[in-house]
Amino acid sequence: MKVPFLELKPTYLELKEELDAAYHRVMDSGWYLLGKELEAFEAEFAAYCGVQHCVGVGNGLEALHLVLRAFGIGAGDEVVVPSNTFIATWLAVSYAGATPVPVEPDPRTYNLDPARLEAALSPRTKAILPVHLYGQPADMDQIVALARQHGLKVIEDNAQAQGARYRGRTTGGLADAAGNSFYPGKNLGAFGDAGAVTTNDPELAAKVRALRNYGSSRKYYNDDQGFNSRLDELQAAFLRVKLRKLDEWNHRRRDVAHSYLTALEGLEGLTLPFVPAWAEPVWHLFVIRHPRRDALQTALAEAGIGTLIHYPVPPHRSGAYAASGFPPNAFPLATTLADTVLSLPVGPHLSPAQLDAIVAALRGLGAGNGVA
Ligand SMILES: *Cc1c(COP(=O)(O)O)cnc(C)c1O
Repeated sequence: MKVPFLELKPTYLELKEELDAAYHRVMDSGWYLLGKELEAFEAEFAAYCGVQHCVGVGNGLEALHLVLRAFGIGAGDEVVVPSNTFIATWLAVSYAGATPVPVEPDPRTYNLDPARLEAALSPRTKAILPVHLYGQPADMDQIVALARQHGLKVIEDNAQAQGARYRGRTTGGLADAAGNSFYPGKNLGAFGDAGAVTTNDPELAAKVRALRNYGSSRKYYNDDQGFNSRLDELQAAFLRVKLRKLDEWNHRRRDVAHSYLTALEGLEGLTLPFVPAWAEPVWHLFVIRHPRRDALQTALAEAGIGTLIHYPVPPHRSGAYAASGFPPNAFPLATTLADTVLSLPVGPHLSPAQLDAIVAALRGLGAGNGVA
C-alpha cells in the first residue's frame, strides 16, 4: 500500500459543496479584496482563538513581521526565537530589521525551554517569540511571566497549532499577539497563501490593519510606509468553511496520534513525542526520533510510506544566516534534532488501513531486521 506523506485533495472533496458555494458567492459578488468575507472570517477566527481582534494578512511570515513592526521592533533590537524552528520565525525578525537570538528547546517537548530564556536576554531584547512547534503549545505561563518581569512583548508563532490548548486556553490568544499561517498544509489551511494576526490589543490590531494595506487607514492617506499583505476574499470565504471543520479534523488527527503512541511504544531506538499534562496538541506533525533516521526514512520509502524531515537544517546553519557568524555547533540540541527527527503521515484523512500499514512497517523494521 502507498501512503503519501500528505494529501490535500481529500480536504476539498469532503467540503466540496460548501467550498464551491463559497467560490460562486465571492465570484458573483464582484468584490475580491478587503470585503465582507474577510470581515466575517476575522470575527469568526478571533472568536475561535478567544481574542478581541483578528487581522487577515497575506501569509504567516507576514503576520509575524507586521506584529514586530507594529510593536516598533526593528534595527538594534533583539528578539528571542527557538533554535529549532521553521526558518520563517527567524526571517520575520530579520525582515523587521531586528536580530534573532536563538534559545535551545526543552529536549522532551522540542519547544522553547523557559529555564534557558533568562540567559539569552540583553538590554536590547524587546520580545520573545515562542513557537507552538508541531502543534503542541509552548510553556506559555513561564515565558509570559519572565517577559513581564523584563518588560518584553511575547508573540506566539501559532502557524502550526490552530485549535491547540494550553491549560484549557486556545493558542493564538495566550500572549500579546500571535501570527497564524493558513498555508494549505497547516491544520487550518487555505487553498493558497493566507495568514492572520490575533490579539487583544486594539492599538496593535489597528496598526497591523494599516500596515497590511500600504500603511493606510483611509484610502490614499498613508501614515506609515506600509506593505501589501492582504488576505483575499476567496481565501477568506474558503477559510470560513474550513474553520467550521477544524475541531473535528483536529480530533481525527488526535486519534491518529494516539494510535501511533500506543502501537509504537517500546520500539527499539524510537523516541515518541512527549505531551506534558497541561498541553492539548493538535498534531500538525507527528515527529519521532531515531539515531539512524536516514536509514529509517529510506526503509519506509521502500515500503511505500512517505515521510518528511521538519527540519533538516537548523536556521543558524542555513545559508540564509551564514553571515551572522554562528559557529556550527552553537546550538547542539537544534542540530541533534535536525539529524534525528522524522515526521510520519498524520492528518484527518489518513485511513485506518494506511495507519496499520505504517505501524506494521515500523514494527517490522524495529524487529532487528532493518534499521534498529
Ligand atoms: C508555516 C510556518 C510559518 C510561515 O507561514 P507561511 O504562511 O508559510 O508564511 C511560520 N512559522 C512556522 C513555525 C511555520 O510552520
